[in-house]
Amino acid sequence: MPAISSDKPYRIGRSKTGLGLFATMPIKKGTKIIRYFGPMLDCRKEKDDAIENKYLFQINGRWTIDGSVRKNIARYINHSCRPNAESDVSARKRTVHIRAIKNIAPGEEINYDYGTEYFKEYLKPIGCKCAACERKRAKQRAEARASKLSKKPSKTKSATKAKKAKAAKKANANARSKPAASASGKGRASKAAANRRAGVKSVKTMKASPKKRARAA
Ligand SMILES: [Zn+2]
Repeated sequence: MPAISSDKPYRIGRSKTGLGLFATMPIKKGTKIIRYFGPMLDCRKEKDDAIENKYLFQINGRWTIDGSVRKNIARYINHSCRPNAESDVSARKRTVHIRAIKNIAPGEEINYDYGTEYFKEYLKPIGCKCAACERKRAKQRAEARASKLSKKPSKTKSATKAKKAKAAKKANANARSKPAASASGKGRASKAAANRRAGVKSVKTMKASPKKRARAA
């Protein structure tokens, strides 16, 4: 790992996706944090144009920085879809600086948007792991769970309703065909027990079932 002198406001550290660059002191919005540098490749030269790696930074139609060199600490900066820095390209000078677009607090990872081409080629196929995309996925999962849960009870409710209706029908049938049996469907009760229930406690049942009342009386 390349050494970074302590006067720099960043350090290389572990990030979710491997290594990343982290602020070690407050970085004010607008500050040039670090230069993205490496050999300049000229796409008109076959040898240069043949070079392929993940750290190529295209400046314009002709020039590309090969940022894969070890000394290019800026290559540790990870992509984010909602970054706190941006790449500031000077086509005339053929330089690229990473600049803060927000105030960055110590400990915060420094990110910039790699652009749609890189995103399509390298990130989309594996799923972007930036904090913004992780949050989005977590939200989507939570929403999917919530919609599942909100669907379930209505299903259960209707099933329970149907069951209850069935049970009520059965109970009614029982009450009609076997007046001595308890209306709650608990089974056949002895005549004495039925009388006791009807006479003492089950006023409601007596009202609901005239046959029973006649028997209890
Ligand atoms: Zn993302």
